[in-house]
Amino acid sequence: MDNAVNNASENVVNDAVANRNVLISGASVAGPALAYWLHRHGFTPTVVERAPALRDGGYAVDFRGEAHLSILRRMGILDDIERARTGMGSMSYVNSAGRPLAELPADLFAGDVEILRGDLARILYDATKEHTEYVFGDSVTSLAEDADGVTVTFERGEPRRFDLVVGADGLHSTTRRLAFGPEEDYVRHLGVYCAIFTTANHLGLDHHGHAYRTANRLVAMYSARHNTEAKAVFYFGSPILDLDRRDVARQQAVLVEQFTGNGWQSDRLLRDMRFAPDFYFDSVGQVRMDAWTRGRVALVGDAAYCPSSLSGMGSGLALVGAYVLAGELADAHGDHRVAFARYEREVRAYAERCQKMGDGVAKLMVPGNRFLASFLNRYYRIMPYLPGRNLPAKIARKTAQSITLRDYAANGARSQ
Ligand SMILES: Cc1cc2nc3c(=O)[nH]c(=O)nc-3n(C[C@H](O)[C@H](O)[C@H](O)COP(=O)(O)OP(=O)(O)OC[C@H]3O[C@@H](n4cnc5c(N)ncnc54)[C@H](O)[C@@H]3O)c2cc1C
Repeated sequence: MDNAVNNASENVVNDAVANRNVLISGASVAGPALAYWLHRHGFTPTVVERAPALRDGGYAVDFRGEAHLSILRRMGILDDIERARTGMGSMSYVNSAGRPLAELPADLFAGDVEILRGDLARILYDATKEHTEYVFGDSVTSLAEDADGVTVTFERGEPRRFDLVVGADGLHSTTRRLAFGPEEDYVRHLGVYCAIFTTANHLGLDHHGHAYRTANRLVAMYSARHNTEAKAVFYFGSPILDLDRRDVARQQAVLVEQFTGNGWQSDRLLRDMRFAPDFYFDSVGQVRMDAWTRGRVALVGDAAYCPSSLSGMGSGLALVGAYVLAGELADAHGDHRVAFARYEREVRAYAERCQKMGDGVAKLMVPGNRFLASFLNRYYRIMPYLPGRNLPAKIARKTAQSITLRDYAANGARSQ
């Protein structure tokens, strides 16, 4: 079936496609995936990315279920992703001495295929760079829409005209702020902060992770790049802090305040943090919007419907959103009014189900008091013997598969 789809949708062109010239803001998951499908449907995508170059490595993301895998297969990149997979096994909850208390199975958090976000972005970039103009180190600063298109100004580059603009610029989307209003109106803080950085695999973890949970805090370490390095992960409960997102020194100081003397590997990892080649720090949030499109501007991926990093659904949802948005534009021969309405209709229920996965997880990951923390540690110890032990992974799989994807190539486009 998928091969048939693949062959039929190679090199498709649309008859009389309007609005061909599309600007995409953001080159992570949703942006390049959208560029891929827009090109396949006969559009001309341009991607602007704020970072000076592709951001490599980072944390692990995953895809699960046939909806995600079938899109990757249709894009011809599933094999590349399989080759770069983390190969992560299970994760153990440990006590302060590092002794395993309980083990969580891999499919709960690693899905069918897990890959570092930066490796995924690289594969998507490689699959699109031949036919997509990428502009690194720049950002949209204003959008002025008129009847025929959008005039876009940039921090560095000259103003340009596009037919449509799509924000694929993540949780803190600039496109969303410019077209829809301030972030506070749309981002819901889940009461948790997260930090991640690369460190030495000094515990000798073999495709495995350790996590240590106390009241309001969780520290974890998992091996990466086939055990040659590890990722250190910190979660802590907190209301929104008044922090500049680019002030790494201040963010690291907050982690030191939160975790010094917290036990297990906390102090060692805090020391190693100073020498880390990368550092991610952010609040954990969801994006809730009544509409993801306005005029000639649309949002896709985390910018529109971030389900939170705790849901384990973000990268698959971003991929599905990009596939459907491009497909609906092709189907409507570029008529954005028709396509945007159908995109919202096709993806909304799915996005809401994915967001539900993130809703309760924050309280389980970072329980507010030590009684709950110790109860959960005990519960996970007996979980492998309980009848419902596979339920969380089953729910995640069912959610990820809960959309029926249309074959857009067979509708709005014809094969060459
Ligand atoms: C710690 C953590 C763990 C996660 N774990 C998982 C997991 O296990 N499974 C899973 O499926 N998902 C996971 N996710 C979520 C997943 O990473 C996201 O849902 C996914 O990356 C969304 O892709 P996106 O392209 O929409 O946004 P992002 O990946 O956030 O990318 C946005 C891009 O836009 C760029 N950008 C930002 N502002 C501008 C601007 N003004 N101009 C131009 N470019 C801009 C950014 O540099 C970035 O490249 C995790 C996320 C985090 C933070």
